[in-house]
Amino acid sequence: MNLDWTDEEAAFRAALRTCIALNMRPGWTLDNRDMPEPRDIEAVKAFCAALGDAGFLTPHWPIEFGGREASPWEQLIVSEETWAAGEPRGGQYMNTNWIGPALMAFGTDDQKSQHLPPISRGEVNWCQGFSEPGAGSDLASLQCRAVRDGDSYVVNGQKIWTSYAHAADWCFLLVRTNTEVPKREGITILLVPMDTPGVEVREIANPYARHLIHEIWFADVVVPVSCRLGDENRGWDIVRSVLANERVGIARHEHAEMVLDQTVADGVGLGLDVDDPALAETIGSAYAWCEAARSMNYAAVGERIRDPLGARPLASVSRSITGPMEREVEWACLEILGDQALASGTEADRQVVTGTTSMIAAGAYEVQLDLIAKLSLDLPRSR
Ligand SMILES: Cc1cc2nc3c(=O)[nH]c(=O)nc-3n(C[C@H](O)[C@H](O)[C@H](O)COP(=O)(O)OP(=O)(O)OC[C@H]3O[C@@H](n4cnc5c(N)ncnc54)[C@H](O)[C@@H]3O)c2cc1C
Repeated sequence: MNLDWTDEEAAFRAALRTCIALNMRPGWTLDNRDMPEPRDIEAVKAFCAALGDAGFLTPHWPIEFGGREASPWEQLIVSEETWAAGEPRGGQYMNTNWIGPALMAFGTDDQKSQHLPPISRGEVNWCQGFSEPGAGSDLASLQCRAVRDGDSYVVNGQKIWTSYAHAADWCFLLVRTNTEVPKREGITILLVPMDTPGVEVREIANPYARHLIHEIWFADVVVPVSCRLGDENRGWDIVRSVLANERVGIARHEHAEMVLDQTVADGVGLGLDVDDPALAETIGSAYAWCEAARSMNYAAVGERIRDPLGARPLASVSRSITGPMEREVEWACLEILGDQALASGTEADRQVVTGTTSMIAAGAYEVQLDLIAKLSLDLPRSR
């Protein structure tokens, strides 16, 4: 088995790295990815526009939608290089990874021509309006209600934990359109402009980071039927394919290793003996987790290439390793730097946020384990 990158892939990575270095705002970190300041929102759009111009934003998309059908490996290289740089695409990685592909697969011609060109030019921010206070792991229990009224739906309800909502132009929103049928058969997807009257974004204040998560409230929000993606009440089938794309190929391992490198260097700078056996074991173990996450990520991409439409058990395995990896790196940072790891604005400090949230964001760790038990091991669900 040859695990080396091809010459073409290596050249693609080198050109991409140059493009990122030229166009990323100096000093960008993962903190900026949440776009806490208006200037971060502008920086994300300017950076994504430059990537789009250079052909690095959607290379994996079909030619008819502005891509060049690059392999999923090149898509992974884009993720590795942008994560290593603190993900200066902000939330636009979602546009290219799964929102665009969902529109291609299920959108009307009008929806495709309205949404895909601005996404491939890096001009729009989207957010993902899925979770609700009573519907996270059990997403199909969602209650946000849309009632048909002529050529429109009227939406009332709440979403929670939404990333990037304050910076979003559009929301990929799941709503309930039928309460009389089994819960998965009454869900519809609406593509909602965030400046529609009645849409209100509230930041969820937390001690860690600004604009990390939000609530979105909908009060009599009128959404034209032309903004519906797919058929009424058939949204769950789309969501299942969306989630398969959401979970593969996010190169968090690249950033986690960079954080470890930086934190070890900071520790050495403070006179710490990183060769002390106990500390060396902690650091070595954290690097091993990063490499395990990298390997499983590659295995999941390989699985997707071999069988694009098949079940993706390795996607769940890959996802289930990512959370513990981030947490191990967080713990290593705390052990290396002690309370100095919590100094605001440092890579280690941000890692405490990432390590804390990554066991639950984009699907709880235990739920991923359940999926592996069910899909791969034929075991009963844990609950
Ligand atoms: C930083 C961050 C960003 C997020 N961004 C978004 C976003 O942009 N859009 C969006 O829609 N959502 C977002 N989320 C929400 C995220 O998808 C949910 O938090 C996640 O799906 C879990 O749902 P929950 O919070 O309701 O927890 P619950 O579903 O209540 O789960 C809580 C815990 O219960 C246990 N549990 C639950 N079900 C099972 C089960 N079946 N088997 C075993 N154990 C179980 C697990 O230990 C789990 O950790 C984000 C969350 C975070 C933390």
